[in-house]
Amino acid sequence: MATRSYLYFDHAATTPVHPRVREAMQPYLDVVFGNPSSIHGFGRRARMAMEKARDEIGAVLGADPAQLVFTSGGTEADNLAIIGVAMANRERGKHIITSQVEHHAVLHACEYLEKIGFDVTYLPVDDTGMVRIGDLREAIRPDTILISIMYGNNEVGTIQPIEEIGQLARERQIYFHTDAVQAFGTLPFQIRDLPVDMLSVSAHKVNGPKGIGALYIARNVTFYPHLHGGSQERKRRAGTENVAGIVGFAEAAKIAAAEREERRAKYEAMRRAMIAEWEKAGIAFHVNGHPTRCLPHILNVSFPGTNTETTLLNLDMAGIAASSGSACTSGSLELSHVLQAMCLGDARARSAIRFSFGITNTVDEARQAARTTAEIVQKTSKAERLS
Ligand SMILES: *Cc1c(COP(=O)(O)O)cnc(C)c1O
Repeated sequence: MATRSYLYFDHAATTPVHPRVREAMQPYLDVVFGNPSSIHGFGRRARMAMEKARDEIGAVLGADPAQLVFTSGGTEADNLAIIGVAMANRERGKHIITSQVEHHAVLHACEYLEKIGFDVTYLPVDDTGMVRIGDLREAIRPDTILISIMYGNNEVGTIQPIEEIGQLARERQIYFHTDAVQAFGTLPFQIRDLPVDMLSVSAHKVNGPKGIGALYIARNVTFYPHLHGGSQERKRRAGTENVAGIVGFAEAAKIAAAEREERRAKYEAMRRAMIAEWEKAGIAFHVNGHPTRCLPHILNVSFPGTNTETTLLNLDMAGIAASSGSACTSGSLELSHVLQAMCLGDARARSAIRFSFGITNTVDEARQAARTTAEIVQKTSKAERLS
């Protein structure tokens, strides 16, 4: 891998740690290694660093830092929001609304709740991957306690109408959670301007370390913690804090916020460059997701007459890392639940490839990857026709 060029276009799965993030974390691994709960100098210094990082992440998110609970990542934040709220509010009602295109961290948390007696409505989406407000309005029941709809989709990039969803939730006095793991760092949102009660983020999708994330929880939300033990995170999440991870998370968040517009412009140029190459090559392709309400770093595209697995294998052999969509389902032949929910047909779902851009990619690399993809598509779709 080190001896030849290997192009990475799977940043929606994870990203490399930014050099400045690594630098910021280093002292908190060995020098300032204290336990933030300890009262001596080692502990106090670690706590100070952690609280400074919390303030910085709060500033980037536009949220009161006291309302942030550090978790082990996006998955734990989603589980805490959904299961934590459901368990604490089950006397009020046992109905939850989510969508069919959520990340598995949300879908499987909801499926677990169904097993223990909750009722879950999985809203359908249109062919761009968007939830319809009318469907949501109809799904709301007197016993609905929680709505969880993601901000930006990790497979196709579609941005959900979370302002309208949140408004409706407020009118009906239902808690609203959004998984903003993919939107964080690419969309310029401020939590205080959004009608959300809970919001999940993760560091490793924005060039921070793996294993650290956060859940924003508004003051009015009653929920049960998942982890019981010490009184860390104001008794909302027990366990010695991941100090180095938290410091790295803050650094990554600050860099992402400072470079947001620059990154967005670059990703949009990369997207245009890839599409232009495919048009030039004269191959058939369909871009999946919403044409305008879309995260800039995700390009999901189907190549009729090809097969996702074959294309990905050929891309990998040619030194290009792309994905079928969700990292959790790759490696299996299972069709993407997102593309299925969009009802684009099996052929389109079976030939989809996700390219997701990151800070180290260049427009030239995107062009090169698109050209290689076009060659693979021409070769393999022909083979498929002959067989
Ligand atoms: C990656 C991802 C998650 C899971 O986050 P982890 O930090 O890997 O647990 C959740 N939701 C979305 C939309 C994601 O892209």
